[in-house]
Amino acid sequence: MKIIDTHCDTLLRCFLDKNWKLSDNEGHISIAKMQQGGALAQFFAIYIDRDEFPDMGHYDKFNEMHKIYEREISENSGSIAKAFCEKDIIQNAASGKISSILAIEDGVVIADSMERLDEVFEKGVRLITLTWNYENSIGYPCSNNMQQHMRGLKPFGIEAVEKMNNLGIIVDVSHLSEGGFNDVARYSKKPFIASHSCARKLCDHRRNLTDNQLRTLGEKGGFVGVNFCSAFLREGSEYATIDDIVRHTVYMADKAGIESVGMGSDFDGIENGLEMKDYAGYPLVVNALEKHFSQTDIEKICSKNMMRVIRETM
Ligand SMILES: [Zn+2]
Repeated sequence: MKIIDTHCDTLLRCFLDKNWKLSDNEGHISIAKMQQGGALAQFFAIYIDRDEFPDMGHYDKFNEMHKIYEREISENSGSIAKAFCEKDIIQNAASGKISSILAIEDGVVIADSMERLDEVFEKGVRLITLTWNYENSIGYPCSNNMQQHMRGLKPFGIEAVEKMNNLGIIVDVSHLSEGGFNDVARYSKKPFIASHSCARKLCDHRRNLTDNQLRTLGEKGGFVGVNFCSAFLREGSEYATIDDIVRHTVYMADKAGIESVGMGSDFDGIENGLEMKDYAGYPLVVNALEKHFSQTDIEKICSKNMMRVIRETM
């Protein structure tokens, strides 16, 4: 089964550890692990870590990590190639290559500049997670404080969403406040996604989506990628079982619709134990989905839903 996974932090590993290579490493994602798991396309996030190297500017960090991305893709050019739209993914697959799609996690990189948005698009970015766990020029993060959680996008954030629609950059609402989510639903003319989130009803964590949010995502033709972080899958858990992942997939398919659910592992960004161990374990998840879904629906969950969003947005 071919997989499109909408979030990983592998580039952060490479940034923090000079010896961390995509070709081979101890983490969740390497070329061989992706090949074993059935990767069709992987979104690689440039996550802006505010704690590491505090003297470096956000855009400088982005550019450093962008260099690493370019280096890692070119060093593995026999197995993986960049993709900027659906056609690229199909062509790369026809040449036996996995596609990599570049993302930004935390719109703080954009600061409050529309030109910056043009620049990152030129540099290949095709998805932006609007916020991480801090306020930025776009909006506010999800919070346990309901007053904060219901704060909407800032005026610049609304403009940024419209510009991302026009450029062909996917709007990602994982980490965003619920008020921000509602504004994206209101203002985005294209489907938007939650690249790595789970169901609030099954696990009461601020990072997870309520039934209403899941229904809205479905109505807007959007997508939610199940996150393999144990704290988002089951309260108090430090180990993510395949059953946990399947449970959230089944629930979110029921609320958002079978056309709007998929995989957003957060590989190399999560610290918990995983029954599937790493990317190579994806076939175990696919097998477990067979108890609940037809083969056609499993294909949708694993890649076709996100491929549709890519076609409609990028
Ligand atoms: Zn994240």
